[in-house]
Amino acid sequence: MKFPIYLDNHATTQVDPRVVETMLPYFSEKFGNASSRQHNYGWQAEESVETSRSFVAKYLNAEPSEIIFTSGATESNNLAIKGIVESCKQKGNHVISCVTEHHSVLDVCKHFEKSGCEVSYVRVDKFGKIDLNELENALRSNSILVSIMIANNEIGTFQPIEEIGKLCAERGIIFHTDATQAIGKIPIDVQKLNIHLLSLSAHKIYGPKGIGALYVRKKNPQIKVSAQQHGGGHEKGLRSGTLNVPAIVGLGKAIEILSNEMNVETQYIASLRETLQQRFFTSIENIWFNGDLSERIPNNLNVGFDGVDAQALMLGMKEIAVSSGSACSTSQAMPSHVLKAIGLSNEQAHSCIRFGIGRFNTEEEIEYTAKRVKEVVEQLRLISSKYKIKKVKEELGTA
Ligand code: PMP
Repeated sequence: MKFPIYLDNHATTQVDPRVVETMLPYFSEKFGNASSRQHNYGWQAEESVETSRSFVAKYLNAEPSEIIFTSGATESNNLAIKGIVESCKQKGNHVISCVTEHHSVLDVCKHFEKSGCEVSYVRVDKFGKIDLNELENALRSNSILVSIMIANNEIGTFQPIEEIGKLCAERGIIFHTDATQAIGKIPIDVQKLNIHLLSLSAHKIYGPKGIGALYVRKKNPQIKVSAQQHGGGHEKGLRSGTLNVPAIVGLGKAIEILSNEMNVETQYIASLRETLQQRFFTSIENIWFNGDLSERIPNNLNVGFDGVDAQALMLGMKEIAVSSGSACSTSQAMPSHVLKAIGLSNEQAHSCIRFGIGRFNTEEEIEYTAKRVKEVVEQLRLISSKYKIKKVKEELGTA
């Protein structure tokens, strides 16, 4: 077994060796600029970029011309929301999002609230799901955009994307979704789901960091997004800057692998997750699982350990790499906004660990993790006076 065992695959994934191999020539012999139209280096680079674009498009049931390469999902989310708010100024200034979105959506919304935009944040239930009636009631005549993710990065819960897409289509409102955690876990058909804009990132699907894409629908209806980065007019003028050819090739390869292997892989990952969940459930008392246990991505297991500080637990088992929430948030001291939104207290939110299982994990690693977590949780509870008092009260029936 290789230590530390990596179980933080929501934060990022190891680049698949097949992806690395495909990328390597683009740093050496195939180093051309995809915009160089006068020689073979440029043509070769452009051809490879277009091949990747068609892999991404095919995965989403989109057209290659609808895929814009960006530096990752943060940029895609920024481009989608800022680009729509700017291009739809005449129509309205009301945006709808959800309280459990990633900060790259929430912070853009907050930014616009300061400059006169109105934003409604729909709430979630204790499983992390939105209420469609609340969403429907939030839609107004001046609403221009709904931005709601497919799957949550902390608790894995799926939102009812098809229903949201239908609601938006009926009202003529643009629907953007952050699919960063859902890509590679479920098939995504932008036509069937009525998605107008979709963000994704390569480093969550065994591709390189610093590359992602935004799907922008071209017809039924045609979505007009205002560029947020100006210059040489790359990516149809939506995202200027010399294309990162090796990374784009890597993203394409990562998607090609998923297209062939996703079904088998998700079953494997889900079976590891079920094993881990079962081991925790049967061997550790006073724990709970966050998120929707039936409608969630197969790689997510978010567990609360009563009376245990998650930071202490992680320090106690340094040979296991997990996380207590989103790696994308810099404010470690703050309880997770997602865990708070599903109704946890600050103390409970600070007792949760996110296990993110991935392609390269093994059964042996899962069994080791289950055993080690149990040991450290028990050690920590022995020294936790709060936990001991709670247990005594429970035994006396006065809790
Ligand atoms: N959205 C979600 C749901 C994410 O999980 C992340 C990464 N944690 C992002 C957006 C940001 O992606 P990137 O790192 O590619 O900017």
